[in-house]
Amino acid sequence: MSTNTIKLYDEDSYLSDFSATVISCTSKQNDCQETLYEVILSATAFFPEGGGQASDTGTINGIPVIERQEKNEIIYHTLTSPLTEGEVISGSINNTRRFDFMQQHTGEHILSGLVYKSLGYHNVGFKLGADTVTVDFNGTFTEEDIRRMEELANDTVFQNIPVIAVYPDKETLNALNYRSKKELSGAIRIVTINGVDTCACCAPHVKSTGEVGLIKVTSYQNYKGGTRLELQCGKRALTDYNKKEKNIQNISVILSAKIYETDEAVKRLKDEKLSLEAKLTTISVKLLSYKADSIPSGEEPYTLFDYEIQDNQLRNYANLVKERRNGIVGIFIPSAKDSSILETDETLEYRYVLCAKAVDVRPIGAELNRSFLGRGGGSREMIQGSITGDRKAIADFLKNYNY
Ligand SMILES: [Zn+2]
Repeated sequence: MSTNTIKLYDEDSYLSDFSATVISCTSKQNDCQETLYEVILSATAFFPEGGGQASDTGTINGIPVIERQEKNEIIYHTLTSPLTEGEVISGSINNTRRFDFMQQHTGEHILSGLVYKSLGYHNVGFKLGADTVTVDFNGTFTEEDIRRMEELANDTVFQNIPVIAVYPDKETLNALNYRSKKELSGAIRIVTINGVDTCACCAPHVKSTGEVGLIKVTSYQNYKGGTRLELQCGKRALTDYNKKEKNIQNISVILSAKIYETDEAVKRLKDEKLSLEAKLTTISVKLLSYKADSIPSGEEPYTLFDYEIQDNQLRNYANLVKERRNGIVGIFIPSAKDSSILETDETLEYRYVLCAKAVDVRPIGAELNRSFLGRGGGSREMIQGSITGDRKAIADFLKNYNY
């Protein structure tokens, strides 16, 4: 039975290099049948996964630690090479990642404490990873609520209040009113930000709120009857700001609009686009009508290959043509809009419409599909589909069909 691992991060969350003695090293196989080594140390600066926060990364004797887990107060480090029991190792954690996590986590405590005090909502879910931080509350927010909480949280940062983590004795703990997501057992660590928050938490924190830097809620949405907030603190918030600033600067240059007026410029652009689309539709309708007028009237089957008609105009065009001829009309447009294949006699895939005023076109379409590996269907007066063939063979089919 091993003794509990001494958690060096409890005492000093800024400690990145440490020494400890190897208590045990056990080999195990992973799912890929590779041999890994599970190491227990007398003490560690590696924070294991816990309370929604991902674990620290780093090395022991230069070997990357690929997994960190805690079970019954013992922390297990998984390595790809073995260590010797009793040897003194030097461990090193990635302190850039650690400090980033500390900024996010303390930022979350500040926000959760303020939300609880002001709105009475509980933090019911927290996830802190390398890319995103989400905080779930069991209540809903207006935009105004969010901005007010954000402002109070940043005021707390400016006040630079100490963040204190202690293990109170049972009596003190019983008398204490603190936030906690679950029923806790064992020694309970309480993290206090005076006047803002008191919360049970096992994770490393910064030593005063000023180190959190900017606290920014970047999005919020309804989630399981409550709200899920996305949060960015400290350097992450700066990185996010920089990305968004770059984006808005690019938009500003493209639209020749001032930074704070880009939304108006985009709206104008969108309105212009809608108006142009409406004009284009009117012109297209006229164009179809002119095209249809140039088709000779008559009774005999008429086959037309057109390279200018768009897919969504095919049906309208067919209706116009149908009014001008009594016989069967077949209109074919190439599926591919690559201009190099237009006007070719090669085998192509065509979208088609077959229509007639007074003839049932369904059996003709069925035969057309059979002959040209096609598919499609429709009503007595009009069927639509696609086939593969060359222009001459398709035209011959409609000319020679036994009507
Ligand atoms: Zn916490």
